[in-house]
Formats: sequence, structure tokens, C-alpha cells
Amino acid sequence: SFDFAARVERVEPSATLAISNKASELEAEGVDVVDLSVGEPDFPTPENIVAAGQDAMDAGHTGYTSSNGIPALREAIAAKLRGDGIDAASEEVIVTPGGKQALYETFQTLIDDGDEVVLLDPAWVSYEAMAKLSGGSLNRVDLAPYDFQLEPALEDLSEAVSDDTELLVVNSPSNPTGAVYSDEALEGVRDLAVEHDVTVISDEIYQQITYGVDPTSLATLDGMSERTVTINGFSKAYSMTGWRLGYLHAPESLISQAAKLHSHSVSCAVNFVQHAGLEAIENTDEAVTEMRDAFRDRRDMLADLFADHGVDVPVGDGAFYMMLPVADDDQEWCAGAIEDAHVATVPGSAFGSPGYARISYAASEERLREAVDRLAEHGYI
Ligand code: PLP
Repeated sequence: SFDFAARVERVEPSATLAISNKASELEAEGVDVVDLSVGEPDFPTPENIVAAGQDAMDAGHTGYTSSNGIPALREAIAAKLRGDGIDAASEEVIVTPGGKQALYETFQTLIDDGDEVVLLDPAWVSYEAMAKLSGGSLNRVDLAPYDFQLEPALEDLSEAVSDDTELLVVNSPSNPTGAVYSDEALEGVRDLAVEHDVTVISDEIYQQITYGVDPTSLATLDGMSERTVTINGFSKAYSMTGWRLGYLHAPESLISQAAKLHSHSVSCAVNFVQHAGLEAIENTDEAVTEMRDAFRDRRDMLADLFADHGVDVPVGDGAFYMMLPVADDDQEWCAGAIEDAHVATVPGSAFGSPGYARISYAASEERLREAVDRLAEHGYI
């Protein structure tokens, strides 16, 4: 039999997998499942981006690229980051197959066995897995008692972060809560990071999906540019999940270490996909705005529908998720909701916050209404 590596054995399979397996099983039986468990926009990739990918393929952009990405895209990304106020140069960018790979490379580059990683719960599921895969030990700060906001939790965070902390992960707008952290909260993070010499990952993958707020990039704060790894990608903003395109930005010293991992693992992101990404950055503002407006309408509608049933859901200013307060045993609630009401959601405990179910509202208004009706009909709300 195989002698598996401890680093892989200590990681759990994705909790969302169990839900989507159950949904597929029911669908195969002919059941109509309202799937609110998925973390991807339900829009097609904008046409101009698809065309740019096709054109690039036709033009023969099908070989390897330089490992860190094609120069035009790295420069466009650096220019975009400069627009956000980050002092970025193209040499400080690695283009990756998805934001997930950018995060994975960052963890692998920074975390040694036993290094402490601080997460803000509820936290996106893969942070824990990536920390464990790199041998890190986890220290978690719970934002649930504070309606998922960071500012009121700063005192708790200051108790968690110490000179032993290597890495802190901040994800604003947040998956799974939709919370966008205030400037005061980010300044609090900065003060702790500087005091204890901590590196911070700022996962800004939902940056362009915000409603009426303009999220601040952590790397723009005084003292943060030299200790921040900014992660972003094309999946969410441009509805490009399957294209697999993302990036990290960090000081060049970190980039040259991460670049070794990058070149020895993925070599490079897909050539013609990088060309499509360039088109996305340069010419897709209108489609981004349309998707954002649709998400906002759905968020408001869904929160109102839950309120009609007497359920008060903390609503964030970004991303396309909300955390529905459910029974103490959220896993049982989610298993029941899919089994009886045929509505798929993800248990909050998968994100470190039991007692909630994560709802993705990247679905049509009609399907969202249907979901609420079914949950009510079967006594789940
Ligand atoms: N970070 C967060 C918080 C996410 O929710 C996701 C996707 O679900 C990612 C990163 C990675 O996305 P991708 O690898 O598609 O760019």
C-alpha cells in the first residue's frame, strides 16, 4: 500500500465537495436542485474576452510564455494596481493559473513547519488547507460575534497576533460573509503587522464586486507595501472561473523566491488565456458594472425575502455570499435542506463558523425566490 505524505494526509477534502456531490446525485435522479452552494458568477464570460482568447489562439499564442507571465499582462496588472494606489512594478507580479495558485505559492514560499498563520473566521476553506500543506500552525480569530466585521474584533486580533506570527490572511470583500472591512479595521491590521513584523496576504479577489463602497487595498497603507502580498484574479470580476487566471503582487525579494516554485510547478499560466486577461483588464468595465448591479439587486431581494420570514441576515457590501443563521448543527441543517427542500448551501462550520449556512446569490432572482419558498415550506426558515 502507499505511504502517503503526512502533509497531504492532514488536509480534509473540500467540504463543499460533499454538498455538490449530493446535489449531482439528486439531479441525476431527476430532482430540480436550487444550487446556492457554488462560488462562481452565473454569467457567461463577456464576449470581448472570449473573442480575445480565440484570436490569441488563432494567432498561435499556444506555446509556453515566460514563467511569470507575458510582459503586456504583467504591465497591465501593475498599472491596475497603481490605479488602486499600490506602488507596483511589472517585475513584482507573477501571473498564475487562478488566484488559488497565487495563494498556494505564497503559503509555500513563506511558511515553514510550525510557523503561525492567523486567519479571520469565517475564512475561505482553502486557507486552512494551504496553511496545513505548508506545515503551518493555525491561530483563528472569530468575527461571528461582531456581525462579521473586523473593526470590533481588533482587540481579539491583537491578542492573537504576536512576534511568533508569520502570516495573517485578510480577505475583503470576504468569502463567505460578503463583509468589506473598514479603513479603521485595516489600519488596525497594519499597526499589528508592523509591530510584530508579520507578512499579510490581502486576498482581493472580490474587489470589483462591491456595492456602494470602495475597498482599500492593504498595500496602500503606510508600512504595508513591504509586507503585503496582494492576491487577485479574473474568475469573479470577469466571470472567468474556468479560464484559470490570477496573480500575486509582492516585493521583488518575495517574487524571486515564489518564481522558483512557479516555474518548477506550473511553468506558466496558459498563453492565450493571458491574452484574454489583458483584454479583460483593458476593455471590460461595462460588463463588470452590469454584473455588479445584478448582484446588488439579488442581495437586496434575498435579504428582504429572509426578513419577510423573520430571519435577519447580516448583509455585507461585497462578494456574492451571505451567512444565513441556522440551527446549532449547521451540517445537519444543510444536509436536511438539500435532502428535503432541494436547496444546496454550504455549512458555516466548513469556514470555521458553525451555526450558519453560506448562501451564494450568484443565481437568478427567480431561483433565489424559489429557494426561499422551499426553505420556508419545509420549515428550514
Ligand atoms: N480567494 C477566495 C476568497 C475565493 O473565494 C476564491 C475562489 O473561490 C479564490 C481566492 C480563488 O479563485 P480562483 O483560483 O478561481 O482565482
